Amino acid sequence: MNLITPKKALDKIEGVVETKSYINKLKLIKNLYTKGSNTAGEMCVEVGISLPTVNSLLGDLMASGEVIKHGRAESQGGRKPDLYKLADDSFYTISVDINKFRIRTAIYNSSNKAITEAETLKLTLNNDKETFDKICDFILQHKQKSGLPDQKIIAVGISMPGLIDAVHGINHTYLKFGKKSLVENFETRFERKVFLENDARAMTLAEFKFGHNDQYKNVLGIFIGWGIGLGIIIDGKIYQGASGFAGEFSHSPIFESRDITCSCGKKGCLESVSSGTAIVRMAKEAIENDHDSILARLAKENNDEVEPYLVVDAALAGDQRAITILSEAGLDLGRGISILIQLLNPELIIIGGSVAEAKQYLITPIQQALNIYSMAKARENTELALYKLGKEVGLLGGVAVVNEQIFEEVLQ
Ligand SMILES: [Zn+2]
Repeated sequence: MNLITPKKALDKIEGVVETKSYINKLKLIKNLYTKGSNTAGEMCVEVGISLPTVNSLLGDLMASGEVIKHGRAESQGGRKPDLYKLADDSFYTISVDINKFRIRTAIYNSSNKAITEAETLKLTLNNDKETFDKICDFILQHKQKSGLPDQKIIAVGISMPGLIDAVHGINHTYLKFGKKSLVENFETRFERKVFLENDARAMTLAEFKFGHNDQYKNVLGIFIGWGIGLGIIIDGKIYQGASGFAGEFSHSPIFESRDITCSCGKKGCLESVSSGTAIVRMAKEAIENDHDSILARLAKENNDEVEPYLVVDAALAGDQRAITILSEAGLDLGRGISILIQLLNPELIIIGGSVAEAKQYLITPIQQALNIYSMAKARENTELALYKLGKEVGLLGGVAVVNEQIFEEVLQ
């Protein structure tokens, strides 16, 4: 069945029965794609189709190779019901993880597993059409090299920084050129559905879906790289805000008394004291004061370029000053997070990104600050955890965005 362009496929299908059958099959595929595996009985309840129809459609989908049987579920009394899942080669998605200085891409199968080795292109994000073209060429080359059948690659999921209006497919910060939206431009080049999301929101969605398997419904994802990104999940759904700008946590003016100018031009933003940018500023000062430290040696080995991960490496190697820097950044970040706890009452707060690789050197001061600044009752049921997906979280963000939104335009 045609999954690459469901809208066009529907236009070609004649007859009410055939149309309904196609839509119902999409509903079952979507259910299995988001849940991993399921029984016919559960699908019947979750999708709202009668059991005989579900069984008949599953028969069709198995005959055409999209669905396979996958063992049996636990018995609810009586015979154990069959479990169904999508065949691994049912379809594929391209995931793209863009940050300010490089882009990565890989192709994932219908079980959300990477089946090509991720490729990286170094490039500085801006608003030039040439940059957009380079990104597209790189992704299309990766697709070409994979040798996968074109009609089975159904969508592209893109996670990138910037003020992103995911509903209208607009990035207000990067790759702005011409009159069309960024998603329209990508769809023209890729000739398939493209889903765009802000990187912090996409990564939070990935941790929520693939790292913590939907266990929690109210989740905050805080990702610390050069800046600080925030994704908010409320009642199991990512929260976009009125124009798609929810989660601009980095530029909350909480530390005005410090008199440090932020990348946004204002003073005292959270980013100016506890992001990768802030950590690098403090690290440079520390190196000036002590040229023999582990941190100074690591920086020298990196051609005198201080990057956030170097401070993390130095701390893990026992550098006292690096540990103090992370501790200060963690305490300030924790103070910011305590405001989020008071406002949103989350069950789980996930800390991720390159700076989070410092693990206890960052988590312990964050927890200390939460103990100081948030109300005991509000934080009692809030779990603080490190991200589980590690370096793959960016690419899985692109996959999660497709997983969440695929087929919605015809299913709604
Ligand atoms: Zn700022």
